[in-house]
Amino acid sequence: MIIVGIETSCDETAVAIYEGDVATGKGELLAEQVASQIETHARFGGVVPEVASREHLLALPPMVESVLAEASLPWSRVDYIAVTAGPGLMGALLVGTSYARAAGLVHNIPVLPVHHMEGHLLAPGLAGALPEFPFITLLVSGGHTMLVRVDGIGSYSVIGETVDDAAGECFDKSARLLGLPYPGGPEVALLAKGGDRKRFGLPRPMLNRDNLDFSFSGLKTAVMYAVKNAGGIESFDLQAMKDMAAGIEGSICEVLVKKSVRACLREDAPRLVIAGGVAANQTLRSMLFKLAESKGVEVHLPHPKHCTDNAAMIAYAGFQHLFAGRNAPEEWDATPRWTLQT
Ligand code: ATP
Ligand code: MG
Ligand code: FE
Repeated sequence: MIIVGIETSCDETAVAIYEGDVATGKGELLAEQVASQIETHARFGGVVPEVASREHLLALPPMVESVLAEASLPWSRVDYIAVTAGPGLMGALLVGTSYARAAGLVHNIPVLPVHHMEGHLLAPGLAGALPEFPFITLLVSGGHTMLVRVDGIGSYSVIGETVDDAAGECFDKSARLLGLPYPGGPEVALLAKGGDRKRFGLPRPMLNRDNLDFSFSGLKTAVMYAVKNAGGIESFDLQAMKDMAAGIEGSICEVLVKKSVRACLREDAPRLVIAGGVAANQTLRSMLFKLAESKGVEVHLPHPKHCTDNAAMIAYAGFQHLFAGRNAPEEWDATPRWTLQT
């Protein structure tokens, strides 16, 4: 079964082709492309919705043809189109979903609408197989930070989430306070190497609260005051920048790792998936492996390129719907706000 995946929910235009076997639930990725608009948006310090839609409109049609050519597949061989239907920016979603609907009509192919976050949380399956159910997923991206209990495909319970900023947003906003370009996560991570995590004494918010929720807006404020009290960012030498970056990264990662492992133990589901853009962070990965191993929790990570937005995860999620016996719905719409809870 050949599935074309399309992703345009935010600032990445992406197309992928996954070939799966509905009898076994296994398969492989045949081709994929991602075009990031990051440079276009960087000069505005964040994603500009109208610009994003226009860029998707330009990039998507040639990319679909190019990915099909890469896999040497004509449209006649495609069985399904899986497209991100939400959540995300309305205009951006409409480009992908309208294209998918039109291609579906022209080539007589059914369309599977996919929840973007479901794509992120199933992404480790692209590297082989999904962990045994139930498992816990920490979804950490630019717009979300949540712990989800997965009891099966389509059976998701949100057991913890951020009460304010997302972890990726905290990376991005803190990076901005240090004068680093957008997106800040990778910039902070790069700078943090060789930094002293403890120097600025940044807080680790909500760590000692006995729940599975997160809060990151206070950390950003703490960074702002720490910079101010140290004489402003202009007075920072390279080592001070490194120490601050290491402090930001260390605080965010420690909270994420400890709460995720706690969630696995509390839910009696000792299998943990970390997905979303922040899951590409190497410090997060190594801290996680260390703690999880000592607590008997199995860790499953998607390939770093499948942590940030991509279409392989959308094609794969579409395939898992089919494997779970679901089919293309008759009626559906692009849904900018769409909860994952089922
Ligand atoms: P959502 O999926 O919630 O709609 P999004 O699509 O913008 O949001 P992703 O593309 O999954 O999010 O992730 C982008 C976020 O990941 C940004 O906030 C970015 O700073 C962060 N990020 C990417 N790489 C790293 C890294 N190595 N370390 C820390 N953060 C990172
Ligand atoms: Mg993105
Ligand atoms: Fe995303």
